[in-house]
Amino acid sequence: MSEAYRSLVELSDELAVINSASALLGWDQEVLLPRNGVEHRARQLAWMSGLSHRRWTGEEVGEWIASCESEFFGDGPEAANVREWRHDYERATALPVELVEEFAKTQSLAKVAWASARESSDFGQFAPFLTDLIELTRRKAEHWGGGGNLYDVLLDTYERGAKVADLDGLFGRYRDQLVPLVHEAVEGNRFDQARLLGDYPEEKQEALNREVAESIGFDFEAGRIDTAVHPFCSGMGPGDVRLTTRYDRTDFRKSLFGVLHETGHGLYEQGLPAEYYGQPVGQSVSLGVHESQSRLWENHVGRSPAFWEKWLGRAIEYFPGLSGVTVEEMVASVNQASLSHIRVDADEVTYDLHILLRYDLEKRIFAGELAVEDIPAAWNEEFERMFGERVKNDTEGCLQDIHWSMGIFGYFPTYTLGNLNASQLFAAAMNDSQVANGFDRAEYGPLLDWMRKRVHGQGRRLLPADLVERASGASVSENAHLTHLRKRYLER
Ligand code: ZN
Repeated sequence: MSEAYRSLVELSDELAVINSASALLGWDQEVLLPRNGVEHRARQLAWMSGLSHRRWTGEEVGEWIASCESEFFGDGPEAANVREWRHDYERATALPVELVEEFAKTQSLAKVAWASARESSDFGQFAPFLTDLIELTRRKAEHWGGGGNLYDVLLDTYERGAKVADLDGLFGRYRDQLVPLVHEAVEGNRFDQARLLGDYPEEKQEALNREVAESIGFDFEAGRIDTAVHPFCSGMGPGDVRLTTRYDRTDFRKSLFGVLHETGHGLYEQGLPAEYYGQPVGQSVSLGVHESQSRLWENHVGRSPAFWEKWLGRAIEYFPGLSGVTVEEMVASVNQASLSHIRVDADEVTYDLHILLRYDLEKRIFAGELAVEDIPAAWNEEFERMFGERVKNDTEGCLQDIHWSMGIFGYFPTYTLGNLNASQLFAAAMNDSQVANGFDRAEYGPLLDWMRKRVHGQGRRLLPADLVERASGASVSENAHLTHLRKRYLER
């Protein structure tokens, strides 16, 4: 191993330690920080990220990477590290400082304008800031990508190697079959959700959630669950993975499915190879693969009849008000489609319609085909075409998500990739008889082992699409997910 390679390993480890301390500060901000500490916390976080940025963009780092590129590593983990270091280094060094600063400044103004515009459903208030953010994002993408399709460059930020040319085909085929499926599923709803509303004390929800998370493999010696307004999962490093959830006293299912989702993310983080901590091969590969793990445990496992065969009895012990509810009823209640206008409230079957709409608009914006002032009309038209309902106002339309106000473009598609990847990986895992037998008894050790070996333990050795292809035996398609949705929503 060369001196240059060893230096990069050392630096990666050091930066990971710094970044994990930032992650802990971020976690603390969401879970514990008193209101008046927010400003000082922002200073702490900015200082830390400035430090790691300066260390990583130093000239010697570029020289080490160049030197490693002339070494021969075959297809071992070293080769993957060098490939990913190069990518990360180019990304970090390509932007002029003025652009980074202007972006950060516009971002904070835009967030405030967006919040106020959303409150009063007045897109005009947000439009000038959105225009600026799009322009600045375009300039960033030009620096990163050097002239290719700008939206490809944005996609690559969150999903390495993803391209419009591939997603257009995949999402187009998916959408053509999903739209009629959604409407059929909504018509098939029979369960009255009001029947399950009741009084579910928070500490009992917490206890049940913990039992469930533990039973699917979350290690509480190496992680914890706390309460936060916006649920998330944050991996601090080996032995410390934090999840958060929120509670609704009238409906225990919300926190339970939230915990199943975040536990899926947490299992991925707990399954990363600790011996490569800090290096690319010790990191999760992409958002689309991360989301596949959360969706897998939330939807494929948590909404399955086998899961409720095992857990309904326990839920009734915690919440006696549920007695009399059958497994069939519980399963029906957690597999209902409805035409929500709000993405974050959407169920499994309609969720991707929300994403496909946003993908299409973002693509048109960065292709120069859609002007900012035309976004509300384009959004509403597309929504009505897919959902068959009118958008009442921009608060429930194009102002609902925070992403654009933060200058985050190209992120939404990773949610749909997460769903498609989840179904494809799950179907492949179920071809293994041990996994399938375990699943039927609600024992998930073999399923977790399968994911550990083929997904979690791989880090960034492969690009995400290649990882899914190697793990599942085929490149990602819409088929497994459509089969799953039909089975869940139409054949019951
Ligand atoms: Zn997630």
